Amino acid sequence: MKILLVDDVHIERMQLSLRLERLGYQVEAAENGADAIEKYGKYLPDLVLLDVSMPDMSGTEVAQKLRELYPEWVPIIFLSGHDEPEMVAKAIDMGGDDYLVKPVNKIVLQAKLKAMQRIASMRHKLAEATAMLERANLQLSKQATEDGLTGVANRRYLDSRMQEAIAWHGRNGYPLTVLMVDVDHFKAFNDNYGHLEGDRCLIKLAQALEQQFSRAGELVGRYGGEEFVVILGNCDKLDAVAHCERLKEAVHTLAIPHAFASTSDQVTVSQGMLSWTPTGLETLDNIYALVDEYLYKAKAQGRDCYVAADFL
Ligand code: GH3
Ligand code: MG
Ligand code: MG
Repeated sequence: MKILLVDDVHIERMQLSLRLERLGYQVEAAENGADAIEKYGKYLPDLVLLDVSMPDMSGTEVAQKLRELYPEWVPIIFLSGHDEPEMVAKAIDMGGDDYLVKPVNKIVLQAKLKAMQRIASMRHKLAEATAMLERANLQLSKQATEDGLTGVANRRYLDSRMQEAIAWHGRNGYPLTVLMVDVDHFKAFNDNYGHLEGDRCLIKLAQALEQQFSRAGELVGRYGGEEFVVILGNCDKLDAVAHCERLKEAVHTLAIPHAFASTSDQVTVSQGMLSWTPTGLETLDNIYALVDEYLYKAKAQGRDCYVAADFL
């Protein structure tokens, strides 16, 4: 347990500090209020032993200041030559947890420190448990929205964001673009390079997609197996065409070899694209079905290309 000992009288400070060290505690000593506040921040003690009467800043003022600056609770025990009930009550009111009269009886001091140590260790355990819970919560919320393999939005999250996008663009009269992206000849890729290599390929493609579409209002999600959907908020057909072109080039740049595709010697993707100003009443099923139709057309046109819907 780390103790911050604050006393303006040199000899008392030294004596008590020595005694505490003999009892096995780590001690940092401060000689006035300002010194105490500064050392508290650096040392982050588990307990503060605080002299009440000091010239510049009284112990009760120091306690108040510490409570203000550091919301996380650390026990403060006051030390004082006075034992009037009013003094004790005031010290506790000002943020103290206990009060000892000087000269401090050795056995009483030891007992009080033991009690505070118990509290301090409980506090540590609580802090650890809280941090663990926070980590678990973060992990859970990631799992709820992320695709396990590729790290892009999972299908459930994609759907909910799509629904929101349709409603929002419908209300505000902005154009919305949806892309459906499918890997070309991916079955042949898996069959020849193995499923694990197939997974690696999907991860690379997902990363490339996220790199291309990382601005506010853009979302990449895994629609299913080797199909991704991209939502492009406030994006009309003209901009969307440029995005499709960029994506096609980005996949070319990855240059993942695919010796078993009939249309290229590396991995390519086909894209269906839908740009329209929603009414807000479209259903997800309709949108996915429609954009899938255009993806199919891109496949039929020879793959490694995009086809835009003439929609509205
Ligand atoms: P097309 O060019 O017409 O899209 O042909 P394709 O072979 O890509 O299409 P098909 O639908 O026949 O095959 C898709 C393949 O994607 C089959 C399936 O094994 C593979 N696949 C789906 N999900 C995953 C995955 O998570 N990991 C791996 N490695 N392969 C997957
Ligand atoms: Mg495919
Ligand atoms: Mg497919």
